[in-house]
Amino acid sequence: MGKILRVNLSAARISDQSLDKSLARKYLGGIGFCIRWLYDMTGPKTDPLGPENSLIFATGPISGTMWPGSGRLEVAGKSPQTGLIGYSNSGGHFAPYIKYAGYDAIIVEGRSSRPVYLYIEDGRAEIRDASNLWGLDTWETEDCLKEELGEEVKVACIGQAGENLVKMASIVTGKCRVAARTGLGAVMGSKRLKAIVLRGKKGVKVAKPQLFTKLVEMGIESIEKSPFSEHYMEFGTTLLVAPMNSIGRFPTKNHWSGVFSGAEMLSGEYLVEHYRVAKRACFSCRFHCKNVLKLGNEVGDHPEYETLCSFGSNLLIDDPEFVIKANWLCDKYGIDTISLGATIAWAME
Ligand code: SF4
Repeated sequence: MGKILRVNLSAARISDQSLDKSLARKYLGGIGFCIRWLYDMTGPKTDPLGPENSLIFATGPISGTMWPGSGRLEVAGKSPQTGLIGYSNSGGHFAPYIKYAGYDAIIVEGRSSRPVYLYIEDGRAEIRDASNLWGLDTWETEDCLKEELGEEVKVACIGQAGENLVKMASIVTGKCRVAARTGLGAVMGSKRLKAIVLRGKKGVKVAKPQLFTKLVEMGIESIEKSPFSEHYMEFGTTLLVAPMNSIGRFPTKNHWSGVFSGAEMLSGEYLVEHYRVAKRACFSCRFHCKNVLKLGNEVGDHPEYETLCSFGSNLLIDDPEFVIKANWLCDKYGIDTISLGATIAWAME
């Protein structure tokens, strides 16, 4: 059975906890674990930005295997944005590396007296000083940590928004894969936890490898046969712009309309034709839906559909370069693009 890393930053204490078999059977992992633990560890009086809140990074039962799309990460805590249970899901490579570093989940409690980061390698963890990282954006933070620790480490970190407890702050992994919703970056900032860094070579053992491989092959085959796949592989969620606009469901002018005259400029087709320089995939994902875009000297992932609405149509902006740049700035500062765009749209109205 697996194990959970428990970290109390107030006491600078680290411990391992065995994963309860009955909990694993009942809640499976990921969001199931997160909600159960938050229910047990927090309550109506828990201050989301207080040391008593828990910040959880959880994997699922097939994380780290070759199952298609098994690289997703679940992050959870009591939300400073809603005062309720908050959770957010991200792609990338961080979740499988929690497993390779020896754990099924990481639970962080307390508050450090100084900026720190958590370093985890092959079943052991250390709390390290992060004063040199405090104040850096997420891209700078990841570059600094990789320069010091090696290109192969995986990083989840906050930017200036999380440090300053902005209630729409996100947690960014691999520069562009983001657990953006419900303000969990502010929870991380309230703990003065700048980053979590993973390095691991522990594999994931599958109980019945032959049967599992067969199931993976069936899963891949059904993805490849799906009539939806080819288009999604090419454009990711940006493929939604044109159809949503054509049925009047494309959020426009702070949701006053569902049709935007500049939708074509924000479409996946336009972004791919004018800015794409490469494709990228999250861990073990057959869709490899990410388009890497280039603007000037900078490269980064495409804005998701929601971001194209948030910084585009909902603000009556049809300039794709503005939306691409705004998306990257949010990733750097560690801010949720949906919440920020919605706030600007509200203020604009
Ligand atoms: S590559 Fe695209 S479809 Fe695959 S996990 Fe990442 S975001 Fe999801």
